[in-house]
Amino acid sequence: MSKDERFHVLFESMIDDMANIDNFDKEHFVHILVEMCELFSLSKGVTEYYINTIHEKNGDGEIFVDYDNGKGDVPVISKRIVTKSQSVIKGTLYMSKEDVPLSDEDYSKIELILRAIMSFVSRNRLQNEVEKLGFYDEVGYPNLHSFYRCIEQINNKSDICDHTAVHYNLRHFSVINQEIGRAGGDAVMKSHFDLIQETIGDNGIVCRVGGDNFVAIFKKDVSDNVLGILKDTKISCKYNQDKRISVSASVGVFEIPENYVLERPTDIMEKVNAASIIARQKTSGQIVYYDQKMIAMKEHAVKVQRRFPKALENREFKVFYQPKVNILNGEIVGAEALCRWFHNGKIVPPGEFIPVLEQNTDICLLDFYMLEIVCEDIRRWLDTGNRGIRISVNLSRKHFVDADLLEHIMHIVDSHNVPHNLIEIELTETTTDVEFLDLKRIAAGLQKEGIYTSVDDFGVGYSSLNLIREIPWNVLKIDRCFLPSDDDPANSVTSLMYKHVISMAQDIGLECITEGVETIKQVNILRENNCHIAQGYFFDRPLPVEEFEKRLEQRFYNIEGS
Ligand code: C2E
Ligand code: MG
Ligand code: MG
Repeated sequence: MSKDERFHVLFESMIDDMANIDNFDKEHFVHILVEMCELFSLSKGVTEYYINTIHEKNGDGEIFVDYDNGKGDVPVISKRIVTKSQSVIKGTLYMSKEDVPLSDEDYSKIELILRAIMSFVSRNRLQNEVEKLGFYDEVGYPNLHSFYRCIEQINNKSDICDHTAVHYNLRHFSVINQEIGRAGGDAVMKSHFDLIQETIGDNGIVCRVGGDNFVAIFKKDVSDNVLGILKDTKISCKYNQDKRISVSASVGVFEIPENYVLERPTDIMEKVNAASIIARQKTSGQIVYYDQKMIAMKEHAVKVQRRFPKALENREFKVFYQPKVNILNGEIVGAEALCRWFHNGKIVPPGEFIPVLEQNTDICLLDFYMLEIVCEDIRRWLDTGNRGIRISVNLSRKHFVDADLLEHIMHIVDSHNVPHNLIEIELTETTTDVEFLDLKRIAAGLQKEGIYTSVDDFGVGYSSLNLIREIPWNVLKIDRCFLPSDDDPANSVTSLMYKHVISMAQDIGLECITEGVETIKQVNILRENNCHIAQGYFFDRPLPVEEFEKRLEQRFYNIEGS
């Protein structure tokens, strides 16, 4: 084969390799390069890459020696390309002193080779940049696309069932940020991530999916190690080596079962996410495994969400009223409006649909609907000569993102011409700082309008005294878990706390009501502790409106002799 023929064979093979970028065979490519260099007696080939021209000036780039037979370094040809994104690629070919000079024909051939290689490098580089943009977030963590891509790669190797997937949220990370500053917090997060990545190694991937949320998939062999770190691990603080930060995560785990057939990578994401949501709600034992029960819950949620719009339109939701009673004279002084769903001839209790509707903003539609019916009822009672009593309505925290919430509530109340002091809005405690500010804004806005506000379920979870000090409430609703039971002695912790919470609330001018009063003994405990308003099964369960209206006519419960 002549030199010219050999050149054409090699060149075509080189172009083929470069065109097939997805299955690029590097070994083959290098082999051709070496043959090319030998064909033209080249002694060395060097490629330089700089991110931009400034880096080029400073000599701050990547330099690859593509070929070097050690026989000399007289440069015979050099090319420089500046790409659209301002990165610089340079290529230089060398010969030994003995072999220079080249014929014009050979020169144009090696120029062609050099150009082809350089455009290949620049295209490859571009692909790397595109990859970075698409598969990494702005800080450089692999993102959700990387996660999905990895799942697909694992699935293609057909060993998905040997893997475990997790979704985790770093607990209390805002507190860590407050304690050691944002930069310190970022460094701790990165060190934690690196530790997880190192533990996973080639057995999978860990990716950040926003804020302090991460997802990972890895071989079951490393599960124990990864979960061990996620449970609790100490990370040294970059800016203060003596300080070590304890980092733990709420983790949702999906151990991919044998015979699992992957339909979409998002299926795995949905499962770990569902488990992780439950893990986050727990105060301890923060690792939750995805299981059959969760599948059933998910199916239930989908059903409720699908039926909700029609049910609302068909007015299947009814308001039940539970009286609030003054225990000094037995008089009904108010009531709480509680929702019941009449569906297919059955009454569905709120525990079965409210948490589902709270997964999106459907709950807001229901709450407004409830307020609407309550306003209609109050108006009717007033119009038929009844005395006005204050009705409380529950408002989900999901409303907090609604910037027009206050206007919305006032529009409903005013369009039924209901005196503002006959409406009370029950709000529950919050867990985050942002929500706390929203809660404060909403409570203050309602009060300005003369609407009553109450803290619902006080005592459940982590009640904060700040909540009472900083937000202008009218009413404190003490949850039944705070109410001493019949056989609690007067000096038990529950009894003492109950007593002090009531006296504190009254000292700062809050009306107090105790929920879940079931027995006469408990009524007496309320009396002894100076809490005069009670709500609970001892008087009545939540009642359909017709029943409640009968109670209103009677006005008093008979508590004589109790
Ligand atoms: P909540 O606002 O704390 O309502 C009080 C719950 O305690 C009611 O349960 C009531 O039936 C129950 N209860 C009252 N007295 C007693 C008692 O003596 N013993 C016991 N064991 N329980 C008693 P319900 O009606 O099942 O409502 C549960 C929760 O569902 C409510 O708790 C509230 O958070 C939510 N909810 C109900 N209706 C609505 C609504 O229209 N909107 C929103 N956002 N939430 C609602
Ligand atoms: Mg309530
Ligand atoms: Mg309550």
